[in-house]
Amino acid sequence: EATPVTVIGLGSMGRAIAGAFLAGGHPTTVWNRTASKAAVLASKGASLAPTAAEAVEAGELVVVCVLDRDAAQEILHPVTDRLAGRSLLMLTSLSPAEANETSAWAARESIAFLGGAIMATPDLIGNPEEASLLYAGSSAVFELHRAALELLGTSTYLGDVAARASLLETGLLASMYSMFAGFFHGAALVGTQGVTAEEFTALALPWLKAMTTFLPGQAEFIDKGDYTTDVQSLAFNKGGLDHIMRISEHQGIGTDIMKPIAELIDRQVAAGHGSDSLARLIEGIRTPKA
Ligand code: NDP
Repeated sequence: EATPVTVIGLGSMGRAIAGAFLAGGHPTTVWNRTASKAAVLASKGASLAPTAAEAVEAGELVVVCVLDRDAAQEILHPVTDRLAGRSLLMLTSLSPAEANETSAWAARESIAFLGGAIMATPDLIGNPEEASLLYAGSSAVFELHRAALELLGTSTYLGDVAARASLLETGLLASMYSMFAGFFHGAALVGTQGVTAEEFTALALPWLKAMTTFLPGQAEFIDKGDYTTDVQSLAFNKGGLDHIMRISEHQGIGTDIMKPIAELIDRQVAAGHGSDSLARLIEGIRTPKA
């Protein structure tokens, strides 16, 4: 018999999570501040708890997916005694500091705590190819409920420091946004000569995919802290960035996206690192300009 689970918070993400547990055959109890949002889940077999306290008592694994930390606290603090001895999985987005604070509170209250970060939109939940969830905190909770967690998406455990899920999520999102922004810059640039974004994308897609194969090599420079290279030095890349800046200005588009990259390169070259690898840019990010 599958573990009874509870899902607290039935916004678009909480409903997707509860739906995946139900589809996977888990007895699923749900609670939401606005009870009407549980209607569809109830028709699929979810039990509606009249109060958050009763919801907590129904589940061996209690998943909380509400707006933010304050909302989660408002719901959980009054039911702390009922959570004691259970597994609490926080899928509400928390900052790294909030995750560690919540983990410390749970430890004081004898609640086994796992923090999570959802790298997916609600429609992707339940699809392990597309949905990835990062977990950090109690390894016991992760192992005990692993089968249930795998119903949501590919599950990765990052260790017992609860902050890690949120930290890794933020790093991944930062990588994503800067990639998108670079793509937008490229589309704006080629658009000045009437090239459509669709045409641009046909070339950008294989290009960016090919470029991702360089990431492990960049990681190696970073982890070694040694940026010595004999290919594509910073000085070489400075030429590339200067070229992009000049042509962008000439075509009359903004350089908001590219300028900070050019400046990071300039700082490292000015500091005498022109022959090092591009990966040295991380040093300028680690030590922001005063
Ligand atoms: P929604 O805005 O759809 O839902 C918010 C939920 O929080 C609702 O259940 C709402 O209850 C509840 N809530 C808000 N304030 C309170 C409060 N003070 N007391 C009780 N309940 C409260 O958000 P999502 O479902 O999209 O997101 C939920 C969490 O999942 C967030 O932390 C979000 O960052 C995270 N997430 C979402 C992703 C997404 O693509 N949607 C992706 C990755 C993470 P009510 O219905 O009564 O208003």
